[in-house]
Amino acid sequence: AQLDTLDIIVLAVLLLGTIAYFTKGTYWAVYGDPYGNSLANSNGAAKAGKSRNIIEKMEEADKNCVVFYGSQTGTAEDYASRLAKEGHSRFGLNTLVADLEDYDYENLDKFPDDKLAVFVLATYGEGEPTDNAVEFYEFFGSEDVSFSEGGSADDSPLSNLKYVAFGLGNNTYEHYNSMVRNVDKYLTKLGATRLGAAGEGDDGAGTMEEDFLAWKEPMWTAVSEALGLEEREAVYEPVFEITEKPEMNAEDDTVYLGEPNKNHLEGSQKGPFNANNPFIAPIAESTELFTDKTRNCLHMEISIAGSNLSYTTGDHIAIWPTNAGKEVDRFLNVLGLSEKRHTVVTVKGLDPTAKVPFPSPTTYDAAVRYHIEICAPVSRQFVSTLAQFSPSEDIKTEMVKLGSDKDYFHEKVIDRNLNVSQLLEILSNGKPWTSIPFSLMIEGLVKIQPRYYSISSSSYVQKDKIAITAVVESIEKPGAPHVVKGVTTNYLLALKQKQHGEPHPDPHGLNYAIVGPRNKYDGIHVPVHVRHSNFKLPSDPSKPIIMVGPGTGVAPFRAFVQERAAQAKAGQNVGKTVLFFGCRNRNHDFLYVKEWDAYKDALGDNFIMHTAFSREGPNKVYVQHKIEEYAEELNKLLEQKAYFYVCGDAANMAREVNSLLAKIISKHRNVSETKGEEIVKAMRASNQYQEDVW
Ligand code: FAD
Repeated sequence: AQLDTLDIIVLAVLLLGTIAYFTKGTYWAVYGDPYGNSLANSNGAAKAGKSRNIIEKMEEADKNCVVFYGSQTGTAEDYASRLAKEGHSRFGLNTLVADLEDYDYENLDKFPDDKLAVFVLATYGEGEPTDNAVEFYEFFGSEDVSFSEGGSADDSPLSNLKYVAFGLGNNTYEHYNSMVRNVDKYLTKLGATRLGAAGEGDDGAGTMEEDFLAWKEPMWTAVSEALGLEEREAVYEPVFEITEKPEMNAEDDTVYLGEPNKNHLEGSQKGPFNANNPFIAPIAESTELFTDKTRNCLHMEISIAGSNLSYTTGDHIAIWPTNAGKEVDRFLNVLGLSEKRHTVVTVKGLDPTAKVPFPSPTTYDAAVRYHIEICAPVSRQFVSTLAQFSPSEDIKTEMVKLGSDKDYFHEKVIDRNLNVSQLLEILSNGKPWTSIPFSLMIEGLVKIQPRYYSISSSSYVQKDKIAITAVVESIEKPGAPHVVKGVTTNYLLALKQKQHGEPHPDPHGLNYAIVGPRNKYDGIHVPVHVRHSNFKLPSDPSKPIIMVGPGTGVAPFRAFVQERAAQAKAGQNVGKTVLFFGCRNRNHDFLYVKEWDAYKDALGDNFIMHTAFSREGPNKVYVQHKIEEYAEELNKLLEQKAYFYVCGDAANMAREVNSLLAKIISKHRNVSETKGEEIVKAMRASNQYQEDVW
């Protein structure tokens, strides 16, 4: 039988639909790329149909050094681009920065021996790879790693590969820097040659930047010796070309005024919503759980109805912040760009491999307000680079000194909590630094990062509304000229104040573009996405649970208790639910103080809350003390396979609770302390012990 026209049309539509489905938009995404190059999206190479072959890519782009990064919050990515730039300006290396998830690794056995691979690898959570490094890590970590030439682990398939490695970790976690340690081990075992030492930066000790700087110099010496490189006088070579477009108007509908991508620019928010594409979510409710002179804590309910976003209890929500107007103004003033803030500019990578971190055409104002992390502490290396653009010789001398003298930098910059424009403003007495190229600011500062919050509502109770519990960061330090105001939490506070029609009481004059680009966030919206976590309740609610969550660490436990109370009300068999909570004073910062009674009504004697107040009596009482007090009961529950959860401060509390638990187990089960520690380790390995710490 012949197909009639209708059949053919139907088949054609089905075929096109199938292609569109299987290519996941590959063919459609390459057109009209607002980033000026198609590599800007994460997974860019794959999305734009580009090769995943790094060797080919390096040859095509005439590169002899690739800097791979595994990054979660942007720091590793920043270090990678700094190394790439430095390798080029000081040693003439032709460098390329590469996202680990954009390439395959089967052909690394063919990596040319006159080229260099650099790995900058952050360790995340419990010794895990960052999201973009999962495949890479699994590839090298697998028992039977094999390469395109068929080489196996036994015959040194990577004997041509020269590499250097730096890890970003936090010594408060048990698996300190395990990413770089393991990758280094795997690569060496496969015959690759490491140049210099494998560096380790420690965020826990607050020495990440200095660890990086200290590791870098001997590494460059080793690299230049091995590859026969000559050091040259470093000159600044821009990575991006910024072109002002006086013929364009900021109101033109092709100009990005803070919209994160093309869909948003064109006015339609289209899912799926994720780390590259936020949902502009309505804030349904906002309140302050407590307020005083120095601190306040927000509770917000964010609606995800109709977005196709979903969460399960224990997940995180990411909030995409906007910089405070006051800091945006300072930044533009210091660069002498205030008058031109609404001038339209295009930003293009001068090299096809350069990633433009935000869409263009845009304006200076929008780039600074929505896309660049301008408020973070300024780094010593960046101060060194900026020195050559000083407005006078005296200032240059001071900048060079700051850049080269670690202790002096500490005293003048770190101890005073200065961000980049605060430092420049102070040094020049407010005179603008008009020689600093804007491209350098894009290269030297990181892309603004969404901040994560442990969701404090239960998806079983309210699947379309996500609650967060956040302390507003405001840090005053004697001798520091400015108060450090947390970027995201102060933005959220301003949203709350707007929602309630409150006058802006911020004593430091912060102000925000609350209505967003082209008023798209009006009616109190905030851009968000959801990040799924492994911090989960047992699937069987009759299992006992123990939760330790002082301060905002109680956030996910409010969700856990809310869920178990609702399950009990629905007639389910809910097990013992024990919560250790701590704060300063019961009358003041006791979070959700009125709610716990209602949960108690639903859960009855199965809900037990132990509270510690650190500023009530003569002695400071912390959750650790309460855990000790109830050690016997706790041990019994653990023997009944209770799940044990800790949330909040990673640096001190979570670590102390970990060792305390080992001691308790040792004492109450009559085993050695070492055995107690082993039991805790095993609990962690089997997910009986879970942490959500920051
Ligand atoms: P930022 O601007 O990011 O500043 C944060 C801190 O950096 C400041 O307090 C200060 O110590 C330092 N800093 C910033 N600028 C400077 C400077 N110029 N000089 C010196 N120091 C500076 N928080 C909650 O309140 N509730 C939660 O439930 C919660 N859950 C989390 C879950 C996860 C998985 C993670 C990773 C974090 C969580 N956090 C939570 C922390 C949260 O993500 C943010 O880090 C926090 O709210 C601060 O964000 P911010 O943008 O307001 O501050």
